[in-house]
Amino acid sequence: MFLLWKESPLTSPEIEPASATQPARAAQLTALLRSERFTGHDTGAHPEHPRRMPAIDLELEQRGLLRDRPVVQFGPATDKAINRVHDAAYLPALDAFATGGGGHLDADTVVRADSVEVARLAVGAGLAAVDAVLAGDVPRAFVLARPPGHHATPRGGMGFCLLNTVAIAAAHAFARGVERVAIIDWDVHHGNGTQDAFYDDPRVLFCSLHQWPWYPGTGAANERGTGAGEGFTVNVPLAARSDDTIYLHALRDHIVPRVHAFAPRLILVSAGFDAHADDPLGGMRVTERGFASLAGACLALAEEHADGRLVAVLEGGYAPDALGRSVAAVVTALDGDAPG
Ligand SMILES: [Zn+2]
Repeated sequence: MFLLWKESPLTSPEIEPASATQPARAAQLTALLRSERFTGHDTGAHPEHPRRMPAIDLELEQRGLLRDRPVVQFGPATDKAINRVHDAAYLPALDAFATGGGGHLDADTVVRADSVEVARLAVGAGLAAVDAVLAGDVPRAFVLARPPGHHATPRGGMGFCLLNTVAIAAAHAFARGVERVAIIDWDVHHGNGTQDAFYDDPRVLFCSLHQWPWYPGTGAANERGTGAGEGFTVNVPLAARSDDTIYLHALRDHIVPRVHAFAPRLILVSAGFDAHADDPLGGMRVTERGFASLAGACLALAEEHADGRLVAVLEGGYAPDALGRSVAAVVTALDGDAPG
């Protein structure tokens, strides 16, 4: 049994999100989907806490990365969209749990009265990002939302995750007529929920780089999909203390060739930052420059196969300062600039 949370929570500066838009350069920049509502779902003394959001905003603001961005409006995801991935019984049960006062969904996963509303909005941001990219309104998008999603399986939430935003976004893309979606997950933990959602589905190439052995215990290299989906799950387990070079080589050697062969029409990235050297929940040594390089490689794949269409979704990342710096580096890379 692996537990996701084994460390004490950290603190971060508190700021208000800032925004300023000028249309001149907006069409070229990555859209950032943000909301003050993502500081709801107050988990208390828990590493996946609301202060992750202002830590990101502070770094983006200080680097001038909130200016001139295209704006993508979004609202909460509907039951119909969510139930493309999650079992029909799950959402009513989760709603009832939250309405009844919430508590712990599992040892790691806190539910408050507003948690389902916040998670629905996070999913809605993912869907709006996909819509905006498919419509050509924005070239790329980064959903800066919480709670994270990639551990949430069709049957239910776990590991800080309530609804699987990236999986629901992929299912939404299929409903919009996209034929093939590659999901690249570089969170330090294996994206078991996303894998489960598409394990037998050849329309999704799910690729995960993750620490091994580590929470949640899945993600062995021999987990490759089943039935029609056999060969469409690519797990790349990595030893503790893997650094930028190891991550980039793993992506280049094990994932990039598979994505080329798959030729996705949309790339989704489960962008967790808990492989950062400073992170309390991971044992890796990735830096913000490494994350920027991973993002740049994903962007190159999107440009080659998917007309540049890429949507990144925030997953983990529990050292607020490192999280802010890493998100800023990835935003810069997705904008097509050199990492700062
Ligand atoms: Zn994680």
